[in-house]
Amino acid sequence: MKKKYVVAFDQGTTSTRSILFNLQGGIEAIAQKELTQFYPQSGWVEHDPVEIFNDQRTTFHEVMVKTGVHPEEIAGIGITNQRETTVVWDKRTGEPIYNAIVWLDKRTTPICEVLKESGLESYVKEHTGLVIDSYFSGTKLKWILENVSGAREKALAGELLFGTVDSWLIYKFSNGEKHVTDHSNASRTMLFNIKELNWDNTLLHALDIPTSVLPKVQTSSSEFGIVDYNGHAIPILGVAGDQQAALFGQGGYKPGIAKNTYGTGCFLLMNTGKKHLSSNNGLLTTLGCSLKEQEISYVLEGSIFVGGAAIQWLRDKMKLIENASETEAICEGIPPLQNLFVVPAFAGLGAPHWDADAKGAIYGLTLDMGREEVIKATVEALAYQTKDVINAMIADSDNELLSLKVDGGASANNYLMQFQSDILDVPVDRPKMLEVTALGAAMLAGIEAGVWRLEDIENLREVDRKFLPTMDDETRNTKYSKWQQAVTRTKSTASNG
Ligand code: ADP
Repeated sequence: MKKKYVVAFDQGTTSTRSILFNLQGGIEAIAQKELTQFYPQSGWVEHDPVEIFNDQRTTFHEVMVKTGVHPEEIAGIGITNQRETTVVWDKRTGEPIYNAIVWLDKRTTPICEVLKESGLESYVKEHTGLVIDSYFSGTKLKWILENVSGAREKALAGELLFGTVDSWLIYKFSNGEKHVTDHSNASRTMLFNIKELNWDNTLLHALDIPTSVLPKVQTSSSEFGIVDYNGHAIPILGVAGDQQAALFGQGGYKPGIAKNTYGTGCFLLMNTGKKHLSSNNGLLTTLGCSLKEQEISYVLEGSIFVGGAAIQWLRDKMKLIENASETEAICEGIPPLQNLFVVPAFAGLGAPHWDADAKGAIYGLTLDMGREEVIKATVEALAYQTKDVINAMIADSDNELLSLKVDGGASANNYLMQFQSDILDVPVDRPKMLEVTALGAAMLAGIEAGVWRLEDIENLREVDRKFLPTMDDETRNTKYSKWQQAVTRTKSTASNG
């Protein structure tokens, strides 16, 4: 039967979805289930891996039933997943031995402290591209092996398997045939050597992790396993962690392309090409989606703690707006701001400043300023913070930024997108279809299936609007240097901090 569709499994922190794409990149159907969050103790976050698998299976079945598509018409499945979340299961029964420990979970902070004390910080940075933090999978795996009764003995006897959510899903969908992951997910474990592209013995030793628990690492666009759907074999042909899948879905397989997801926080990733770079500005180095005929590409990653959350603050705490979408007309309805800056350091300052004790501040208020000006300055803060991270990426990589691809809730704001383009002095490119993460995973699968070529990505990803810079250099430079002054004054070390 002719292959007419590609399916994406999009397993996120709050929901599990299946999306059926046609070969033009259009969405035929989506099915979704909310995922139960468990908070057993303060700072702990868990998911039930069995619920994750069941929801993925159910939503897949739903899109198939909804559309009436024949399983033989599916060219392949691509998986994209919440990154770093850690599952350990019994090889024989396929049952998890503990809940999935979610990336947000902070319980392994003490393990991280011990690693730091043993002098491994620079080793971790150089070989994994990461910083020692509870966020990544390695210490979560160690915690399970140490705290679940009998786990270490079973692991040493080769009876346990570890995986991020992609590995877990593939294991279950392939009926225990395959224990695999891809480069982009492996690079988030803090156990994978991103220079040599293999599991890092020094770190495995430091965390006391037996190699028998580790999945085989594959190219992101390759065959990962076979799903048996009502007697029909459908191959899983693509796998990538959510942020790297989004970069890929945005066409970011080329050096110099960056994407920003404007959600509650913002996630910025920039493809820096074939050379492994270590950041001098507190950014992470990670692996992009890998393709069979190409050398691996490296990605710099930075996140902004308070992005769209600043708009929620305007709504929920300041009561200045009723909903986020009002902000666009308000920003456009008043003249350009000259000297007003909101620095939303509500959770400290992230990359490239790294000041956990900084607090939010407003600078430049005069009597003629009110609600609308504060709203506009808050919206502009998202663009300024993005420029701070992009500048760090450019400084680290020596790359020129060619274009910023955007997605996420706040990318709907036309004023913000135009201001972003002006302040960066590069085009800002917003796609029509904002499901770029799922599209990225589908593309990886479609390329391996042979229904798409890499060059097709540009056509599959239709542009909704391209915002071109219109601000003159002097205005841009003045505004940005005033923003930088405002940030400097906000730092906890500042004399007025
Ligand atoms: P997440 O996936 O993190 O939940 P979303 O991608 O759904 O986030 O984006 C929601 C965020 O975007 C919210 O913080 C909201 O305040 C902000 N937002 C949504 N629409 C707009 C808009 N038109 N202008 C500015 N911010 C917006």
